[in-house]
Amino acid sequence: MDFTRLKAIIEDTPLHALLPYLEEDYLQGIRHGDFPRWRERLAALPRIQASSISLGDKVSIGDAGDSDDASLQALEQELREFIPWRKGPFDLFGISLDTEGQSNLKWKRLEQQISPLTGKKILDVGCGNGYYGFRMLEAGADLVIGIDPHLAYVAQFWLLKHFTENLPTYLPIYVLPLSLEQMPERINYFDTVFSMGVIYHRRSPIDHLLQLKNCLRPGGELVMESIYVDGEKGYCLTPDKKYARMNNVWFVPAIETLIQWLSRCGFVNMEVIDRSLTNTDEQRQTEWMPYESLSHSLDPADSSLTIEGLPAPKRVVITATRPR
Ligand code: SAH
Repeated sequence: MDFTRLKAIIEDTPLHALLPYLEEDYLQGIRHGDFPRWRERLAALPRIQASSISLGDKVSIGDAGDSDDASLQALEQELREFIPWRKGPFDLFGISLDTEGQSNLKWKRLEQQISPLTGKKILDVGCGNGYYGFRMLEAGADLVIGIDPHLAYVAQFWLLKHFTENLPTYLPIYVLPLSLEQMPERINYFDTVFSMGVIYHRRSPIDHLLQLKNCLRPGGELVMESIYVDGEKGYCLTPDKKYARMNNVWFVPAIETLIQWLSRCGFVNMEVIDRSLTNTDEQRQTEWMPYESLSHSLDPADSSLTIEGLPAPKRVVITATRPR
């Protein structure tokens, strides 16, 4: 990944503290998982380049005319090496990546409700392969930085970005292999910070909220998306072990509890902008995510319960402001 341009953008901003994370030394130092192997694969990707990009519901990079058949076949093979593809959908040179999640549906539920992104600098915490970041560009963002410690997803984004380097317009979007906890103190920079689908994975949700606030400029907006369960203010579910097959779920709050957490952390203007129930059309097994999916996480006889017999997840989006 070429970070030359990003380095120039952040040099004279509070984000300069991120510069060490853009160095080859840092990336080389990430030894765990398959990261070194993926980096090798990325370096050997077909040399084709997209002539166009379309940032709609399906993020389409290039079209079949940009490539010869042999390169397309090689690309399709290569894309399979990066399975599972969870967030999307994408289309690459006519190859349709039907991802597990129809992430466009989540985006549709919130895009009209949040502060306009035109000209904004945005941080997407837990960005996965960057699908929403592309949608943020579509909405006119000036800069999108996604962070995610899960290297497989970072590698997917780098793969996608690889094919966009020769577009006539520069795409100011980056994904860095970082967790929010690694962000330096006193960033106070981003106009909008997204945390979607992350907080219930955190052992310390309050620290998560404080770290999100640290990244926002005063007056900036947090977009918090989480699963929730029904309950009074103060209630929150801590699963004994697994929740909907996930073994890294710690706190699933009631909506009022989440609002209370936000308030305790100093956010104001909390507004519930969407509540929804993910169904098995929105999140399902596909050719590009051939493993178990949502339907395997719910009680087959009663979809209001998880497979463990706990209340099934519902989803909420809340916007909140960091006071000036
Ligand atoms: N935001 C996407 C993806 C949600 S999946 C969406 O809403 O669809 C949750 C993601 O959060 C995973 O990719 C996981 O790797 C990431 N994540 C977990 N803990 C994190 C942390 N501490 N900092 C940043 N990302 C984190």
